[in-house]
Amino acid sequence: MPVCKVLYLGNTIDYMKQLLSILFSVSSFTLSAQTIDKYFESIRKNEAELTAFFQQMPKGGDLHNHFSGSIYAETYINYVVDKDYVINENTLEVRTAAPDGDEWAHFSKLDKEGTLPAYKQKLIQKWSVKDYNGISYPSDKQFFETFGAFNIANKGAGRLDTGLLELKRRALTENVTYIETMFTSIPCGSLNKIDTSYNHLLETAQTKRDEALAIKQLDKLYKLIEDNNAGSCATVFNEELTATHHRLKIDDSVFTMRYQNYVVRVVPPVDVFKSLVVAFESANSCPLIVGVNIVAPEDNEISMRDYWLHMEMFKYCHKKYPKVKYAMHAGELALGMVKPEDLTWHINAAVHIAGANRIGHGVDMAYEHKSYELLRYMAKNNIAIEINLYSNEFILKVKNDAHPLSLYRKFHVPITINTDDAGVLRSNLTHQYVLLAERYKDVSYEEIKQYVYNSVDYSFIKEESIKDKLKAQLDARFSRFEREVINAYSAH
Ligand SMILES: [Zn+2]
Repeated sequence: MPVCKVLYLGNTIDYMKQLLSILFSVSSFTLSAQTIDKYFESIRKNEAELTAFFQQMPKGGDLHNHFSGSIYAETYINYVVDKDYVINENTLEVRTAAPDGDEWAHFSKLDKEGTLPAYKQKLIQKWSVKDYNGISYPSDKQFFETFGAFNIANKGAGRLDTGLLELKRRALTENVTYIETMFTSIPCGSLNKIDTSYNHLLETAQTKRDEALAIKQLDKLYKLIEDNNAGSCATVFNEELTATHHRLKIDDSVFTMRYQNYVVRVVPPVDVFKSLVVAFESANSCPLIVGVNIVAPEDNEISMRDYWLHMEMFKYCHKKYPKVKYAMHAGELALGMVKPEDLTWHINAAVHIAGANRIGHGVDMAYEHKSYELLRYMAKNNIAIEINLYSNEFILKVKNDAHPLSLYRKFHVPITINTDDAGVLRSNLTHQYVLLAERYKDVSYEEIKQYVYNSVDYSFIKEESIKDKLKAQLDARFSRFEREVINAYSAH
C-alpha cells in the first residue's frame, strides 16, 4: 500500500509538472504569437519594414513559376553576347547568324565600337518590364513578347544549367525552400507525321460542343500518338532532365525543385493534344516531373476558340493517366480583354470538365457563372488557387480590391502566393508577400503563415516523406524567425 501511495504521489508530481509546462508553453506561445502579430500590424504601412520582415520569413514554395520567365534578362544577354550572336540594330531582334541586310551587327562589333552597354540596356528593357512606362506599348504584349525573344537564348547547351542554378540561388537568398517550375513542352519529332486532318474534326466537335465526337477523335489520335513513339520522347526527356537535376545537385538538405511539363494553347488542336499526351506520359513516369500545365495568353484567339476542347483533352488524359496532377492557367482574364460572357466559364470548365487540381490566377472569379457555388466546390475539393499579385497588376491591371483574393478567402479556398515570372516582372517572392500585406490589411500573420504551409501541402511533390521534411523545416525556420523578430522588437 505505501508503495502504491508513493507511486501515486510520484504520478501526481509528474502530472503537475507536465501541466505547468504545458500551461507555460501555451502562455509563452500566446505571448509570442501576440507579440509577432503586434509587430506585424505595426509595420503594415511601411514597405521597407514589410520587405525586411518578409525577406527573412520562411516562404516555403513557389508553385506558379515559369522557368524561362523567372530568369532575369541579364542572364540571357550574357549568353547571346558570349556566343557573339547578331542583333538587329533597329528592332533589337537577336539571331544566331546575320541574314541579308546591313542593320545586323555582331555583339563583338558593338563591343569594339563602345555601344555594347547601351544595347545591353535596351535589351533588358525589351526582355523585361524594366523602365516600362505603361503607355507606349500594351503591357500584356510587352510581357508575353519577351518569351519569343528568349527562344534564341534558350537553345544552347549549358543554358538550362545557368537558369536552374539562378532560380535556386534566388530561392536560397529569400528563404524559399521549394520551387515547382513550369519547365518546358517536350519536343517529339516522330509525331510530326500525324495527320492534321483531325484538326477539322476536332474543330467541329468544338463548335458543336459535342463531347462524344471529341472523344471519338481523341481516341483515334491517342492511338496514333502512342504508335508513333510518344513514349520514347517522354523517356528521353525524363532521362536528360533527371541527369541534369542530379549533376547540378539541385536538391540538397535546404532546397528542393520539381518540374511541370506544359503545353502551349495557341496552336492547332492536334498539336496541343500531341504535346499533352507526351507531357502526361512523361509526368506519369518520372518522380521529378510532378505535373502538367497549359500556358500562353488565355485571351489569344485560338485559346479562346478552343478552350472547351482543351478542357476535354485534359479530361481525356486524366482517364489515361489518373495519377498525374495538373494545374491550369484559368481565368487569367479581365473585363475589356474579352467579351464579358467569356469571363463566366473558364475557371468553371477547368474545375468541372478538366478536373484541375489547382487553378493558376483565377482572376475572373467574380464574373464566373454561379461563382459562390464554384468557390464552395473548390474549397470542398481542396482545389487550391495560385495567386500572382504583381503579375495580375502588370498584365491584367487588376489589383487591390478588384482582385478576387477576398472571394477566395471568404470561401476558404486554399491560397498559395507565387511569382509567375519573376525575371520578366523584375520581382521576387518577397515582393508578392509585401503586396499581400500592404493591400489586404485584414490578412493576419497567422493566415499568411497558413499560405506558406499551403505551398507545401498543395504542391504536387510525389513523395509524402519530402513534404513532411519540408514542413518540419518550416516549423524550425518559423520558430527561429519569430524568435528573431521578437528579440528585435523587444530591443526597441
Ligand atoms: Zn503563369
